[in-house]
Amino acid sequence: MTAMVVERLGPPDVMELRDVPVPTPGPGEVRIEVEAVGINFADVLAVAGEYLTRTKVPYTPGMEFAGIVESLGEGVQGVSVGQRVAALGGSGALAKYAVVSAAGLIPVPQSLSGAQAAAFPVSYFTAYHGLKTLGRGVAGEWVLVQAAAGALGTASIQLAKAMDMKVIAMASTEEKLQIARDLGADVTLLQDDEDRVQKVRDAAGGQGVPLILEVVGGKRFQESLDMAANQGRIIVIGNASREQANLRPVELMKRNLSVTGLWLTSLMYDRAATAEAAQALSQLVGSGQVTPQVGPTYALADSARAFQDILDRKTTGKVIIEP
Ligand code: NDP
Repeated sequence: MTAMVVERLGPPDVMELRDVPVPTPGPGEVRIEVEAVGINFADVLAVAGEYLTRTKVPYTPGMEFAGIVESLGEGVQGVSVGQRVAALGGSGALAKYAVVSAAGLIPVPQSLSGAQAAAFPVSYFTAYHGLKTLGRGVAGEWVLVQAAAGALGTASIQLAKAMDMKVIAMASTEEKLQIARDLGADVTLLQDDEDRVQKVRDAAGGQGVPLILEVVGGKRFQESLDMAANQGRIIVIGNASREQANLRPVELMKRNLSVTGLWLTSLMYDRAATAEAAQALSQLVGSGQVTPQVGPTYALADSARAFQDILDRKTTGKVIIEP
């Protein structure tokens, strides 16, 4: 079968299309015929060797995907051949077939297309945990969503509005801000607006924002501290700038701020939190209140271009690759 293979870490064009053996599911695993792969900023960082965990090469990228169950390993129960599933695995989805632990299967409403199902798990579970599990957002409260037209950003706006929160959305272009408004953002602001700190504080009633989903990092992290309300909660979800941030704990003391890290991979081991998120999300998606935002779609052979377009901030919604 064809698959994208990375033999040395680096920029997106290190990925090469190769012919590799079809993987065999071991005990507790399933083999899925891949319909659509959701590409995350994390995939780009993993290929570059800059992700939270070390990337071992050679490997096939692709951690989030949807497809049809094609064969079951020993001892797998509760899944049938022919069923459409979404899945989260560490890697391996940029291929015709992928093998994943049955524990990595994510229930998705059957109303979703393959691309929508592939756009769902990472962004929506992360948004849920950022807004609710860790962010403790409540109805009527303001939340700041950065990179608002991206995969996580669009998920965060939709979920925040479903929670009756008020959203300030930031993004780099007017076109991206229009996407945020179309999804219900109450206030939108260009990421490079000169008066952005004051404007964000003013939008939230002059008091600053009680909840911030921080995905840019670097020097923008300091700005998030400045935009936060007293007792504000800053959930650190990403570092798209790939720059280091400085955090002076004393600054947190002065305004009783809290900074909480969020990594979906380790949160998935929290069974109670995962079950709660899965139930809430499947109800919201099933009722049509929330719809995964499918962005540009690429063929497997164009994977490097898809990755580069994410890095170049050209994409909105979830980038999809169809093997
Ligand atoms: P997106 O679809 O949001 O694409 C990344 C976006 O980040 C860009 O479109 C761009 O939006 C913004 N950005 C800001 N600064 C830069 C920069 N210097 N270079 C490139 N992009 C920049 O990707 P994802 O939804 O996959 O991820 C969004 C963020 O959330 C990432 O930081 C990612 O690592 C993080 N994340 C973390 C998870 C976790 O478990 N902790 C899970 C999921 C996502 P704009 O042009 O509007 O600024």
